[in-house]
Amino acid sequence: MIRAMGDIPISLSATQVLSKIKQACDKRKEAFKNINVRLVAVSKTKPKSAIIEAYNCGLRYFGENYVSYTINSCSVNELSEKSHDPEVIEKCPDIKWHFIGRVQKKQINKLLATRNLSIWETVDSQVVADLANGSLERNFAGKKVSVMVQVNTSDEPSKSAVMQSQNKAGIEPENVNNLVEHIISKCPHLELVGLMTIGSINHSLGEGLNPDFERLEKCKQEVCRKFDFDADKFELSMGMSSDFETAILMGSSNVRVGSTIFGQREYKK
Ligand SMILES: *Cc1c(COP(=O)(O)O)cnc(C)c1O
Repeated sequence: MIRAMGDIPISLSATQVLSKIKQACDKRKEAFKNINVRLVAVSKTKPKSAIIEAYNCGLRYFGENYVSYTINSCSVNELSEKSHDPEVIEKCPDIKWHFIGRVQKKQINKLLATRNLSIWETVDSQVVADLANGSLERNFAGKKVSVMVQVNTSDEPSKSAVMQSQNKAGIEPENVNNLVEHIISKCPHLELVGLMTIGSINHSLGEGLNPDFERLEKCKQEVCRKFDFDADKFELSMGMSSDFETAILMGSSNVRVGSTIFGQREYKK
């Protein structure tokens, strides 16, 4: 059993999150009632033992925000290593990975080589879409990968430096339609399944509706109208530990919950 001091066991926190998701689903307004909500357990910085424990509680979707990175000239392979780990493959045969971070261009091949890559949630430019599409064509026998367009819905700066740089990621709302059109018409190996946002932390701490989530929902309505997607199926990835219930009430189909399931993350200095 993996836990940090003061944290509750993963089995308990996972169950609690699932039951809160269900309660929020039941409280949704009519227009959102047919949307299926998926829990993505964000396992970044956490060891494979934590992933296996969460998998054994019934969780199937896991999110990582680094393919790999270098720290103190030592290379840390997050998504790439975890997805190919023999023990993870053996004990979690149906695991599905979501990539939720920024990718360097030179890491795109490595990202696409992820075993059981389910959705790449953070495509935010034509350049990245074209590189991915070209790589799938050349290096992956033309396989198709599901993607979301990441939208920068918040204009306010947020407090933590990591989240601040991540918050700024994403295409501006007014450019979403262009990128969507590009992916649909020029990237046959990418399957567009939805929109994603991180949103401002400041908004999540307040009560009530989150304007970032509202903006993303507006973008979705426009995309569905313009490109004829089914609004019950076209996804919205929004909501994290602090605000996943609000996000579900506002139409989210994909919540990305990390610390509430796995406990606080420790970042190595
Ligand atoms: C880390 C991360 C999450 C999960 O954050 P928690 O607050 O720990 O739930 C969700 N989405 C993205 C993009 C992240 O980087």
